[in-house]
Amino acid sequence: MIRKITIAIDGYSSTGKSTMAKALAQHLGYLYVDSGAMYRAVTWWAMSRGWVSDDLIDEAALTQNLPDMSLELTTLGDGILEVLVDGARITEAIRSMEVAQRVSQIASIPEVRSFLVAKQQLMGLRKGVVMDGRDIGTVVFPQAELKVFVQADPQVRAQRRYDELTAKGQIVDFQDILSNINDRDYQDTHRSVSPLVQAKDARVLDNTHMGMAEQLALLISWAELAIQGEH
Ligand code: C5P
Repeated sequence: MIRKITIAIDGYSSTGKSTMAKALAQHLGYLYVDSGAMYRAVTWWAMSRGWVSDDLIDEAALTQNLPDMSLELTTLGDGILEVLVDGARITEAIRSMEVAQRVSQIASIPEVRSFLVAKQQLMGLRKGVVMDGRDIGTVVFPQAELKVFVQADPQVRAQRRYDELTAKGQIVDFQDILSNINDRDYQDTHRSVSPLVQAKDARVLDNTHMGMAEQLALLISWAELAIQGEH
């Protein structure tokens, strides 16, 4: 029987990690988990409860209520990830700029991280999982058989995110997106708990000049090597 492995895909915002990770999971018949969607869901939930204002986050209220928050991720037949918080479907709402602007702050709260890391580790208990995020290869699954660290030029990432949002009919400003990407890079790499760092044993994928098909082919070849036990 072919052994199942754990695949951790970490890297900067808007590098296409989720698209790649989802396609790789589909190819392998693995479970795909978008850990960023989980941080976004907690952010949306805290905002909807009124605990996030312009310059203040009510961390006490947020962390006290966190154990009672019900968060579900389900993948529909067509590969679309549905996110439900307390039974409400927030799949699109978590992709808004408002959530994007707050998520890195929320993700730096230690209680939020331990709450979500525990859920992520449960989801990966039986292996056969591709999870993407910032700390998957370093904190969530340090024993993952394949770790990939994805990076790309910030201007190229901002252009991709701009194209994605405008294609969905959202009216967005390129400079806002670029500064959000730069802010999130800074916050994600400078926070004290689980900052974004490249795991020592990660393979680096710089996709500034690569298309999705080329990236996926490379990832599949790395995954096949890892499944065979060759790194
Ligand atoms: O991957 P995505 O850009 O949707 O993630 C949203 C935010 O969630 C990131 O900017 C980061 O602050 C946070 N995050 C994290 N750890 C993860 C995944 C996401 O801190 N494993």
